[in-house]
Amino acid sequence: MLSKDFIELEGKYGAHNYHPLPVVLNKGKGAFVWDVEGKKYFDFLSAYSAVNQGHCHPKIIEALVDQAQTLTLTSRAFFNDQLGPYEKYVTEFFGYDKVLPMNSGAEADETALKLARRWGYDKKGVAENQAKIIVCAGNFHGRTISIISMSTDPDSYKGFGPYTPGFEVVPYNNLSALEKALEDKNVVAFLVEPIQGEAGVFVPDDGYLKKAYDLCKLNNVLFIADEVQTGIARTGKLLACDHENVRPDVLILGKALSGGVIPISAVLADDEIMLVIKPGEHGSTFGGNPLAAKVATAALEVVKEENLAEKAEKLGKIFREELKNFNHPMIELVRGKGLLNAIVIKPSNGKEAWDVCVKMAENGLLAKPTHQHIIRFAPPLIITEKELYEALEIIKKSINQMLEA
Ligand code: PLP
Repeated sequence: MLSKDFIELEGKYGAHNYHPLPVVLNKGKGAFVWDVEGKKYFDFLSAYSAVNQGHCHPKIIEALVDQAQTLTLTSRAFFNDQLGPYEKYVTEFFGYDKVLPMNSGAEADETALKLARRWGYDKKGVAENQAKIIVCAGNFHGRTISIISMSTDPDSYKGFGPYTPGFEVVPYNNLSALEKALEDKNVVAFLVEPIQGEAGVFVPDDGYLKKAYDLCKLNNVLFIADEVQTGIARTGKLLACDHENVRPDVLILGKALSGGVIPISAVLADDEIMLVIKPGEHGSTFGGNPLAAKVATAALEVVKEENLAEKAEKLGKIFREELKNFNHPMIELVRGKGLLNAIVIKPSNGKEAWDVCVKMAENGLLAKPTHQHIIRFAPPLIITEKELYEALEIIKKSINQMLEA
């Protein structure tokens, strides 16, 4: 079967909830993927930053295969011999008392929202059903009903109401709006992405996160960081919050926690917060399964052993500098941190971000527009400097070709 046959199959039998680039992939290794016709591409999306450790990392796959042949799922009705050691490892790795394991990023976000509400009632003394959580305009935290209830993107929320109450939206990167919203004594938490990934890699001003954290502390409000996309070395530090030495009260992780192998997410917090949830009050059949425990441990070991944060920091600087110096009229802006970057495309010659992405694919590099004029570039962090320069050549060549004919 050819690419077009697979695309047809998906169109006929799959829900139409995505609009993929017309490439059909069947193999991945490191920073590269291959399509069914055998064409090789740089992967500059990394499954929305889930494949930070590179496709099919041998150490992670070995852990997966090993554990898959031994025990995959017990449910949390029983203990298993992998979860405890993983919980010890991941909490020490990120410096928290406890972890609550889930599967998808959205589930981890939902977990954090429940945790914050319960903390508000049990510890802060907010009256029942009055808890409020402050979120930011332009946020992306996933696709569940509660999460889309706090979205400001009509594509996410429109036509899916009625919505979950209890959220207040403030502009991103705006401390005075946050300060004002925090005056409400029913506010229990501020949920924020340290860099807004899906919105188009919006990097807040230096000092925003630290000041936002301080404001939360002043008002006895939990600072919750959604690091599902920014975490695990992507932005040049283990966590994007580390750039400002902020330690979130509640930390949400997903995606690269498994190196893109299986869905694994986690919420981390200290006892004072985490222990407000009691047995039977929250859970997931697959959350904390032995396969996930083994895979996540290996995925985090890779991040440390291969110095992925330092690599992302160094290569990210090269990437932004090269594209800024390229100084092309179609590139309005280059922004990002570490290897989470984006360019804003100025439509020219009848071409826009989608056309650039199609051309880059033709030339051997995969990236995807986010919103109409923004292209995010987020390669696996194991990409070498030489490969990065090769990829930059493809990006520049493709943009140049937009102005031809
Ligand atoms: N939070 C952030 C910041 C994300 O970028 C995403 C996905 O892109 C999610 C949550 C949702 O994760 P998932 O798609 O695994 O539910």
